[in-house]
This record gives sequence, structure tokens and C-alpha cells, in this order.
Amino acid sequence: MRQAVWCTLFGSKNATMEKLHLLSFATTLGGGVLLWLIEGVVPFFSAQADRGRHAALNLSLAAVNLAILLPGSLLMAVFLEYSVRLWPGIRGFELPIVAQTLLILLLIDLWMYLWHRLNHTVDFFWRFHSVHHSDPALDVTSSWRFHSVEIFFSESLKLPVFALIGADIGDVLLYSMLMTPVIEFHHSNVSIPEALDRALRAVIPTPFMHRIHHSVLRSEHDSNYGSMLSVWDRLFGSYRMKTSIRNMPLGLENESAPDQQRLRALLLRPFRN
Ligand SMILES: [Zn+2]
Repeated sequence: MRQAVWCTLFGSKNATMEKLHLLSFATTLGGGVLLWLIEGVVPFFSAQADRGRHAALNLSLAAVNLAILLPGSLLMAVFLEYSVRLWPGIRGFELPIVAQTLLILLLIDLWMYLWHRLNHTVDFFWRFHSVHHSDPALDVTSSWRFHSVEIFFSESLKLPVFALIGADIGDVLLYSMLMTPVIEFHHSNVSIPEALDRALRAVIPTPFMHRIHHSVLRSEHDSNYGSMLSVWDRLFGSYRMKTSIRNMPLGLENESAPDQQRLRALLLRPFRN
């Protein structure tokens, strides 16, 4: 039944997966390029020194991570193909197919919230996640700046969690297609009217909200963990707002100096002391 719905939309199952892969890739790349262009014209923080150099570093980290993400996504597709036959998860409930899919997307987003929060509360995970937070500036390329070990754990832990939920690779691709542009948007340096940001953050974590998550102060960066939906922060008490963030320092104390912003330094940093 479920496959029948996908296939009505896209054709055979293989064609469906191929199209979802392409759409997911297109929204990531298209959203990234579009936001990069817009933040160049209407930036929120105008004092960013060298956008090209900043992007080159963040994209270098992203390129290293592709070595994990590409085989990881193939492994996940095969793993979920089998796991869903053994354990239906949400699929086992007597619910309409659309409700099942929405529930699965919600639970995946809840896991993303919890995983992000764990990265801030467990010292071992923070060691790697702090590389993301050591970025002294924020723009769309910051959304791709992660240490490879964090990516490894993030991708590995998704396997049992997604299997438990009953997600298949179609659900994962659909989630990625919806979540990635939101992640790119809230990391971006695009300046949007405050009223629009306020309205949007009723549903998604916005640039204003996520900039607080990148504040140099721990009391501020231990907040606003949401990926696609802002509801989890409100529900679990981690939602934080400020009246103004215009002069708020970004990054981490003693971790965001120019000589620390090099690929080798960032890759080695979690293994020091
Ligand atoms: Zn974080």
C-alpha cells in the first residue's frame, strides 16, 4: 500500500528512490547556492571578513565527510530495507499512510533534537561537535561544517533509531529533503525582517533563533537545538530568545582564533588534551 502511493507519484520503487535521491540532492545544492547569493547581498552580520576563505574551510570539512556519508547512505538503504521487514515500527499501526509518514518524520526530527542535545551534554560528543561551534562567523556553509567523527556517530546511531521507528529509505530521503533547506536557512547570514523571523519560528528554527545557539556563551549555545521543527525546544525547555543579537559574539572562547581555523587544526582539535 505504502509503496503503491510512492509509485503512483514517481513510478516504480527504484525510480521513486532515484527521484527522491535527486530531489534531496537538488534541494541541498539549490538551497545552499541560493542562500549564499542572498546573504552576499543582504547580510545580517556585515563585518564578515573573507567569505571565500570561510566557505573554503567549511566545504573542505564537508568534502572529508562525504567519504563517510556516501557509503553510509548506501549502507542505510540496505539496512532499512531489511529491518522494516523484521520490525514494522509505526508501519504496524492501523493508520492512514499519510499519518504514518508524518509520524515517522516527526519522530526522526525528535531524534535529531535529542542527538543534538546529547552532543552538548555528553563531554565525549561535545569534543567533536565543538568543531561546528568554533566557527567564528555564521553563513550557509556553516551548516556543512562538522567533524568527521561526529558524522560517523550521527550516521551510525541513526540505524537502530530509524529501524525502531520503522522508517524506510524513502522516509529518510523525504526528511532530508525537507530538513536540509531549513538547516541551511537557519545557519545562513541572510537578513530577514524581525516580524517574519518571529512568525517562522512558530514552526521552524529560524536564523535569529539559531544564531543564539552559536553564541560564545555556554548558557546561550546550550539552547535552541531544533533541526527542522522548533516545537521540541519549546516542549523540552531549551527554547531561548534575546531582544537583540546584533553585537553578540559567535564561536567559542579560545577556539575561534584565525590560526585555529585551518582544516588540519580542526580535524586534530578533538584529540588534543
Ligand atoms: Zn550545537
